[in-house]
Amino acid sequence: MIPLFGVQRQATRLRAALDARIARVMDHGGFVLGPEVAEFEDRLAGYCGAGGAVGVGSGWSALHIALLAEDVGPGDAVFAPAFTFTATADAVIAVGATPVFVDVDPDTLNMAPMALARAMEAVRREGRLTPRHVIAVDLFGLPADYAALGAVAAEGPAPLRVLADAAQSFGGSRDGARVGALAPVTALSFYPTKPLGGLGDGGAILADDPALRDRYRSIRNCGRGPDGLQAEPAGPTARLDTLQAAALLAKLDAYDAELARRREIAAFYGAALEGLADLPPREAETDSAWALYTIRCDDRDAVRAKLAEAGVATAIYYPAPLPGHPAFRHLAPAAGALPVAEAASRRVLSLPMHADLTDAEVEAVCAAARAALA
Ligand SMILES: *Cc1c(COP(=O)(O)O)cnc(C)c1O
Repeated sequence: MIPLFGVQRQATRLRAALDARIARVMDHGGFVLGPEVAEFEDRLAGYCGAGGAVGVGSGWSALHIALLAEDVGPGDAVFAPAFTFTATADAVIAVGATPVFVDVDPDTLNMAPMALARAMEAVRREGRLTPRHVIAVDLFGLPADYAALGAVAAEGPAPLRVLADAAQSFGGSRDGARVGALAPVTALSFYPTKPLGGLGDGGAILADDPALRDRYRSIRNCGRGPDGLQAEPAGPTARLDTLQAAALLAKLDAYDAELARRREIAAFYGAALEGLADLPPREAETDSAWALYTIRCDDRDAVRAKLAEAGVATAIYYPAPLPGHPAFRHLAPAAGALPVAEAASRRVLSLPMHADLTDAEVEAVCAAARAALA
Protein backbone atom coordinates (compact mmCIF):
# COMPACT_ATOMS: atom_id res chain seq x y z
CA MET A 1 0.00 0.00 0.00
CA ILE A 2 1.31 3.49 -0.84
CA PRO A 3 0.89 5.26 2.51
CA LEU A 4 -1.03 8.50 2.97
CA PHE A 5 1.57 9.85 5.43
CA GLY A 6 5.30 9.19 5.78
CA VAL A 7 5.74 9.42 9.55
CA GLN A 8 7.82 6.28 9.94
CA ARG A 9 9.86 6.75 6.74
CA GLN A 10 10.76 10.25 7.90
CA ALA A 11 11.83 9.02 11.35
CA THR A 12 14.11 6.48 9.65
CA ARG A 13 15.60 9.10 7.31
CA LEU A 14 16.24 11.58 10.16
CA ARG A 15 17.16 8.97 12.78
CA ALA A 16 20.74 10.09 13.45
CA ALA A 17 19.79 13.76 13.94
CA LEU A 18 16.82 12.81 16.14
CA ASP A 19 18.93 10.45 18.26
CA ALA A 20 21.59 13.12 18.81
CA ARG A 21 19.02 15.74 19.88
CA ILE A 22 17.18 13.32 22.17
CA ALA A 23 20.43 12.09 23.75
CA ARG A 24 21.30 15.65 24.78
CA VAL A 25 18.02 15.94 26.70
CA MET A 26 18.67 12.60 28.41
CA ASP A 27 22.07 13.96 29.48
CA HIS A 28 20.88 17.27 30.96
CA GLY A 29 17.60 15.91 32.36
CA GLY A 30 15.56 19.08 31.97
CA PHE A 31 12.50 17.24 30.70
CA VAL A 32 10.04 20.07 31.36
CA LEU A 33 10.77 23.56 29.99
CA GLY A 34 14.38 22.58 29.32
CA PRO A 35 16.67 24.66 27.06
CA GLU A 36 15.42 23.04 23.82
CA VAL A 37 11.95 24.55 24.37
CA ALA A 38 13.23 28.14 24.28
CA GLU A 39 15.63 27.29 21.44
CA PHE A 40 12.78 25.83 19.39
CA GLU A 41 10.48 28.78 20.18
CA ASP A 42 13.14 31.21 18.90
CA ARG A 43 13.76 29.18 15.74
CA LEU A 44 10.03 28.89 15.09
CA ALA A 45 9.34 32.62 15.47
CA GLY A 46 12.31 33.44 13.25
CA TYR A 47 11.20 30.99 10.56
CA CYS A 48 7.66 32.40 10.47
CA GLY A 49 8.53 36.06 10.88
CA ALA A 50 6.45 36.31 14.07
CA GLY A 51 7.36 38.40 17.12
CA GLY A 52 7.63 35.33 19.31
CA ALA A 53 6.42 31.78 19.94
CA VAL A 54 5.24 29.83 22.97
CA GLY A 55 5.40 26.02 22.84
CA VAL A 56 2.33 24.19 24.13
CA GLY A 57 1.08 20.63 24.45
CA SER A 58 -1.03 20.32 21.28
CA GLY A 59 -2.81 22.25 18.56
CA TRP A 60 -5.99 22.04 20.59
CA SER A 61 -4.19 23.59 23.57
CA ALA A 62 -2.79 26.33 21.32
CA LEU A 63 -6.34 27.33 20.33
CA HIS A 64 -7.67 26.93 23.88
CA ILE A 65 -4.90 29.00 25.47
CA ALA A 66 -5.13 31.68 22.77
CA LEU A 67 -8.87 32.08 23.45
CA LEU A 68 -8.38 32.08 27.25
CA ALA A 69 -5.79 34.85 26.90
CA GLU A 70 -8.29 36.97 24.92
CA ASP A 71 -10.83 36.45 27.76
CA VAL A 72 -13.30 34.84 25.37
CA GLY A 73 -15.98 33.05 27.41
CA PRO A 74 -19.67 32.41 28.08
CA GLY A 75 -22.06 34.51 26.01
CA ASP A 76 -19.44 35.12 23.30
CA ALA A 77 -19.82 34.06 19.68
CA VAL A 78 -16.67 32.77 17.95
CA PHE A 79 -16.99 32.45 14.18
CA ALA A 80 -15.35 29.31 12.80
CA PRO A 81 -15.41 27.64 9.37
CA ALA A 82 -18.02 24.90 9.01
CA PHE A 83 -15.52 22.61 7.25
CA THR A 84 -12.48 21.79 9.40
CA PHE A 85 -11.13 19.40 12.01
CA THR A 86 -13.37 19.31 15.10
CA ALA A 87 -10.69 20.74 17.44
CA THR A 88 -11.29 24.20 15.98
CA ALA A 89 -14.81 24.34 17.46
CA ASP A 90 -14.03 22.14 20.44
CA ALA A 91 -11.57 24.71 21.83
CA VAL A 92 -14.30 27.36 21.61
CA ILE A 93 -16.68 25.21 23.65
CA ALA A 94 -13.91 24.49 26.17
CA VAL A 95 -13.72 28.20 27.10
CA GLY A 96 -17.51 28.34 27.44
CA ALA A 97 -18.11 30.36 24.26
CA THR A 98 -20.38 29.38 21.36
CA PRO A 99 -19.02 28.49 17.92
CA VAL A 100 -20.94 29.99 15.01
CA PHE A 101 -20.33 28.02 11.81
CA VAL A 102 -19.48 29.96 8.67
CA ASP A 103 -19.59 28.46 5.19
CA VAL A 104 -16.41 28.09 3.15
CA ASP A 105 -15.29 29.26 -0.27
CA PRO A 106 -16.00 26.75 -3.07
CA ASP A 107 -12.47 27.03 -4.54
CA THR A 108 -10.25 27.20 -1.47
CA LEU A 109 -12.53 25.52 1.14
CA ASN A 110 -11.34 28.21 3.57
CA MET A 111 -13.73 30.54 5.43
CA ALA A 112 -15.55 32.72 2.89
CA PRO A 113 -15.33 36.45 3.77
CA MET A 114 -18.88 37.18 2.52
CA ALA A 115 -20.26 34.30 4.58
CA LEU A 116 -18.43 35.69 7.64
CA ALA A 117 -20.04 39.09 7.07
CA ARG A 118 -23.48 37.45 6.87
CA ALA A 119 -22.90 35.37 10.01
CA MET A 120 -21.68 38.41 12.02
CA GLU A 121 -24.73 40.38 10.91
CA ALA A 122 -27.08 37.53 11.86
CA VAL A 123 -25.58 37.22 15.37
CA ARG A 124 -25.79 40.99 15.92
CA ARG A 125 -29.39 41.07 14.72
CA GLU A 126 -30.41 38.17 16.94
CA GLY A 127 -28.71 39.78 19.96
CA ARG A 128 -28.37 36.59 22.03
CA LEU A 129 -24.56 36.29 21.79
CA THR A 130 -21.80 38.92 21.69
CA PRO A 131 -19.66 38.61 18.55
CA ARG A 132 -16.15 38.26 20.00
CA HIS A 133 -13.62 36.44 17.83
CA VAL A 134 -12.95 34.78 14.49
CA ILE A 135 -10.96 31.58 13.96
CA ALA A 136 -9.81 31.08 10.38
CA VAL A 137 -8.39 27.70 9.33
CA ASP A 138 -5.75 27.16 6.63
CA LEU A 139 -7.38 23.98 5.35
CA PHE A 140 -5.09 21.28 3.93
CA GLY A 141 -2.19 23.78 4.17
CA LEU A 142 -3.59 26.64 2.08
CA PRO A 143 -3.45 29.96 3.99
CA ALA A 144 -6.86 31.64 4.35
CA ASP A 145 -7.50 35.11 2.95
CA TYR A 146 -6.52 36.97 6.13
CA ALA A 147 -6.65 40.41 4.53
CA ALA A 148 -10.27 39.98 3.46
CA LEU A 149 -11.35 38.17 6.64
CA GLY A 150 -9.58 40.74 8.84
CA ALA A 151 -11.35 43.58 7.03
CA VAL A 152 -14.77 41.97 7.56
CA ALA A 153 -13.96 41.19 11.22
CA ALA A 154 -12.97 44.81 11.84
CA GLU A 155 -16.30 46.17 10.56
CA GLY A 156 -19.11 47.20 12.86
CA PRO A 157 -19.40 48.56 16.39
CA ALA A 158 -16.86 46.24 18.04
CA PRO A 159 -14.00 44.99 15.83
CA LEU A 160 -13.27 41.26 16.19
CA ARG A 161 -9.77 39.77 16.20
CA VAL A 162 -8.81 36.89 13.94
CA LEU A 163 -7.01 33.83 15.30
CA ALA A 164 -5.30 31.69 12.66
CA ASP A 165 -5.72 27.93 13.12
CA ALA A 166 -2.58 27.03 11.18
CA ALA A 167 -2.40 23.42 12.40
CA GLN A 168 -2.06 22.31 8.75
CA SER A 169 -0.18 25.21 7.16
CA PHE A 170 3.24 25.68 8.78
CA GLY A 171 5.61 26.83 6.00
CA GLY A 172 2.83 28.14 3.77
CA SER A 173 2.78 31.78 2.70
CA ARG A 174 0.64 34.49 1.19
CA ASP A 175 1.77 37.67 -0.57
CA GLY A 176 5.34 37.00 0.52
CA ALA A 177 4.56 36.60 4.25
CA ARG A 178 4.76 33.23 5.96
CA VAL A 179 2.04 31.60 8.04
CA GLY A 180 2.62 32.98 11.55
CA ALA A 181 2.93 36.52 10.22
CA LEU A 182 -0.50 36.65 8.52
CA ALA A 183 -2.68 37.11 11.63
CA PRO A 184 -2.07 38.72 15.05
CA VAL A 185 -2.16 35.27 16.69
CA THR A 186 -1.47 31.89 15.07
CA ALA A 187 -1.98 28.39 16.51
CA LEU A 188 0.21 25.50 15.29
CA SER A 189 -0.03 21.75 15.84
CA PHE A 190 2.91 19.36 15.73
CA TYR A 191 0.79 16.21 15.71
CA PRO A 192 2.97 13.66 13.86
CA THR A 193 1.10 13.82 10.52
CA LYS A 194 1.05 17.64 10.31
CA PRO A 195 3.54 19.38 7.98
CA LEU A 196 5.98 19.86 10.88
CA GLY A 197 5.23 16.87 13.10
CA GLY A 198 6.84 15.77 16.35
CA LEU A 199 7.24 12.30 17.85
CA GLY A 200 3.97 12.78 19.72
CA ASP A 201 1.73 15.69 20.59
CA GLY A 202 2.85 19.30 20.50
CA GLY A 203 1.80 22.76 19.44
CA ALA A 204 2.74 26.44 19.58
CA ILE A 205 1.19 29.89 19.62
CA LEU A 206 2.82 32.66 17.59
CA ALA A 207 2.04 36.26 18.52
CA ASP A 208 3.63 39.66 18.09
CA ASP A 209 2.26 41.06 21.36
CA PRO A 210 4.70 40.29 24.22
CA ALA A 211 1.99 40.78 26.87
CA LEU A 212 -0.12 38.07 25.22
CA ARG A 213 2.89 35.74 25.06
CA ASP A 214 3.46 36.25 28.80
CA ARG A 215 -0.13 35.19 29.43
CA TYR A 216 0.32 32.08 27.25
CA ARG A 217 3.40 31.16 29.29
CA SER A 218 1.45 31.42 32.54
CA ILE A 219 -1.63 29.62 31.26
CA ARG A 220 0.30 26.66 29.78
CA ASN A 221 2.07 26.23 33.12
CA CYS A 222 -1.12 25.51 35.13
CA GLY A 223 -1.70 29.24 35.47
CA ARG A 224 1.46 30.07 37.40
CA GLY A 225 3.02 33.49 36.87
CA PRO A 226 6.79 34.12 36.61
CA ASP A 227 6.91 34.75 40.39
CA GLY A 228 5.49 31.28 41.11
CA LEU A 229 2.12 32.63 42.28
CA GLN A 230 -1.12 31.66 40.55
CA ALA A 231 -1.80 34.33 37.92
CA GLU A 232 -4.53 32.67 35.81
CA PRO A 233 -7.49 30.88 37.35
CA ALA A 234 -8.05 28.36 34.54
CA GLY A 235 -4.57 27.32 33.44
CA PRO A 236 -4.22 23.74 32.19
CA THR A 237 -0.93 21.82 32.21
CA ALA A 238 -0.14 22.23 28.53
CA ARG A 239 3.60 22.76 28.06
CA LEU A 240 5.58 21.53 25.07
CA ASP A 241 7.81 18.69 26.33
CA THR A 242 11.57 19.24 26.04
CA LEU A 243 11.89 15.91 24.18
CA GLN A 244 9.33 17.06 21.62
CA ALA A 245 11.11 20.40 21.21
CA ALA A 246 14.39 18.52 20.66
CA ALA A 247 12.82 16.29 17.98
CA LEU A 248 11.17 19.29 16.33
CA LEU A 249 14.51 21.12 16.16
CA ALA A 250 15.96 18.18 14.22
CA LYS A 251 12.92 18.08 11.95
CA LEU A 252 12.96 21.84 11.36
CA ASP A 253 16.46 21.49 9.84
CA ALA A 254 14.98 19.20 7.17
CA TYR A 255 11.76 21.14 6.68
CA ASP A 256 12.48 23.30 3.64
CA ALA A 257 13.67 20.35 1.56
CA GLU A 258 10.56 18.37 2.55
CA LEU A 259 8.25 21.26 1.68
CA ALA A 260 9.94 21.60 -1.73
CA ARG A 261 9.37 17.89 -2.37
CA ARG A 262 5.67 18.14 -1.37
CA ARG A 263 5.29 21.13 -3.68
CA GLU A 264 6.83 19.11 -6.52
CA ILE A 265 4.43 16.21 -5.88
CA ALA A 266 1.44 18.58 -5.77
CA ALA A 267 2.43 20.07 -9.14
CA PHE A 268 2.78 16.58 -10.61
CA TYR A 269 -0.65 15.50 -9.25
CA GLY A 270 -2.14 18.74 -10.57
CA ALA A 271 -0.87 18.17 -14.09
CA ALA A 272 -1.90 14.49 -14.12
CA LEU A 273 -5.43 14.99 -12.76
CA GLU A 274 -6.40 18.26 -14.45
CA GLY A 275 -9.96 18.04 -15.78
CA LEU A 276 -10.74 14.75 -13.98
CA ALA A 277 -11.70 16.17 -10.56
CA ASP A 278 -11.86 19.47 -8.66
CA LEU A 279 -8.23 20.05 -7.64
CA PRO A 280 -6.71 22.18 -4.86
CA PRO A 281 -6.41 25.76 -6.16
CA ARG A 282 -3.02 27.06 -7.17
CA GLU A 283 -3.19 30.80 -6.63
CA ALA A 284 -0.32 33.01 -7.73
CA GLU A 285 -0.07 34.88 -4.41
CA THR A 286 -0.55 31.86 -2.11
CA ASP A 287 1.78 28.96 -1.33
CA SER A 288 0.21 25.94 0.36
CA ALA A 289 2.17 23.88 2.88
CA TRP A 290 0.56 20.80 1.24
CA ALA A 291 -0.40 19.07 4.46
CA LEU A 292 -2.81 17.06 2.31
CA TYR A 293 -3.59 16.82 -1.40
CA THR A 294 -7.39 16.76 -1.39
CA ILE A 295 -9.39 16.42 -4.57
CA ARG A 296 -13.19 16.59 -4.89
CA CYS A 297 -15.06 14.19 -7.16
CA ASP A 298 -18.47 12.64 -7.72
CA ASP A 299 -18.97 9.00 -6.65
CA ARG A 300 -16.20 9.59 -4.13
CA ASP A 301 -16.64 6.28 -2.30
CA ALA A 302 -16.40 4.28 -5.54
CA VAL A 303 -13.24 6.17 -6.55
CA ARG A 304 -11.81 5.49 -3.12
CA ALA A 305 -12.53 1.77 -3.40
CA LYS A 306 -10.79 1.59 -6.79
CA LEU A 307 -7.73 3.36 -5.39
CA ALA A 308 -7.61 0.94 -2.45
CA GLU A 309 -7.73 -1.96 -4.92
CA ALA A 310 -4.78 -0.39 -6.77
CA GLY A 311 -2.81 -0.18 -3.50
CA VAL A 312 -3.21 3.55 -2.87
CA ALA A 313 -4.18 4.66 0.65
CA THR A 314 -6.63 7.57 0.83
CA ALA A 315 -8.61 9.31 3.57
CA ILE A 316 -11.68 11.46 3.94
CA TYR A 317 -11.05 14.82 5.58
CA TYR A 318 -13.76 15.47 6.62
CA PRO A 319 -16.80 13.17 6.42
CA ALA A 320 -19.18 15.81 7.84
CA PRO A 321 -19.33 19.57 8.26
CA LEU A 322 -18.89 20.55 11.92
CA PRO A 323 -22.62 20.77 12.73
CA GLY A 324 -22.95 17.20 11.39
CA HIS A 325 -20.95 15.86 14.37
CA PRO A 326 -23.05 14.64 17.31
CA ALA A 327 -21.30 16.99 19.76
CA PHE A 328 -22.14 20.09 17.71
CA ARG A 329 -25.58 19.18 16.40
CA HIS A 330 -27.34 21.53 18.84
CA LEU A 331 -25.44 24.40 17.19
CA ALA A 332 -26.49 23.55 13.63
CA PRO A 333 -28.04 26.35 11.60
CA ALA A 334 -31.12 25.77 9.42
CA ALA A 335 -30.81 22.89 6.93
CA GLY A 336 -29.07 23.99 3.75
CA ALA A 337 -27.40 27.01 5.39
CA LEU A 338 -23.87 25.68 4.73
CA PRO A 339 -24.12 24.38 1.15
CA VAL A 340 -20.41 24.46 0.26
CA ALA A 341 -19.30 22.67 3.44
CA GLU A 342 -22.04 20.07 3.03
CA ALA A 343 -21.15 19.34 -0.60
CA ALA A 344 -17.42 19.20 0.24
CA SER A 345 -17.98 16.57 2.94
CA ARG A 346 -19.57 14.28 0.33
CA ARG A 347 -16.88 14.82 -2.36
CA VAL A 348 -13.46 15.17 -0.69
CA LEU A 349 -10.74 12.55 -1.06
CA SER A 350 -7.14 12.98 0.14
CA LEU A 351 -4.28 11.30 -1.75
CA PRO A 352 -0.86 10.28 -0.37
CA MET A 353 1.22 13.41 0.29
CA HIS A 354 4.59 13.41 2.04
CA ALA A 355 8.25 14.03 1.23
CA ASP A 356 9.18 10.34 1.40
CA LEU A 357 7.05 9.21 -1.54
CA THR A 358 9.30 7.90 -4.32
CA ASP A 359 8.89 9.08 -7.90
CA ALA A 360 7.56 5.63 -8.80
CA GLU A 361 4.94 5.87 -6.06
CA VAL A 362 3.84 9.34 -7.20
CA GLU A 363 3.48 8.04 -10.75
CA ALA A 364 1.54 5.01 -9.50
CA VAL A 365 -0.87 7.24 -7.52
CA CYS A 366 -1.49 9.32 -10.64
CA ALA A 367 -2.07 6.29 -12.86
CA ALA A 368 -4.48 4.75 -10.36
CA ALA A 369 -6.33 8.05 -9.80
CA ARG A 370 -6.65 8.70 -13.53
CA ALA A 371 -8.12 5.23 -14.05
CA ALA A 372 -10.47 5.57 -11.08
CA LEU A 373 -11.72 9.02 -12.12
CA ALA A 374 -12.09 8.28 -15.85
C1 LIG B 1 -4.83 18.83 13.86
C2 LIG B 1 -5.66 20.03 13.95
C3 LIG B 1 -5.94 20.64 15.20
C4 LIG B 1 -5.58 20.03 16.52
O1 LIG B 1 -4.26 19.73 16.69
P1 LIG B 1 -3.82 18.65 17.80
O2 LIG B 1 -2.36 18.88 17.92
O3 LIG B 1 -4.18 17.31 17.28
O4 LIG B 1 -4.55 18.99 19.06
C5 LIG B 1 -6.67 21.81 15.20
N1 LIG B 1 -7.12 22.36 14.05
C6 LIG B 1 -6.89 21.81 12.85
C7 LIG B 1 -7.41 22.48 11.64
C8 LIG B 1 -6.17 20.61 12.76
O5 LIG B 1 -5.95 20.06 11.57
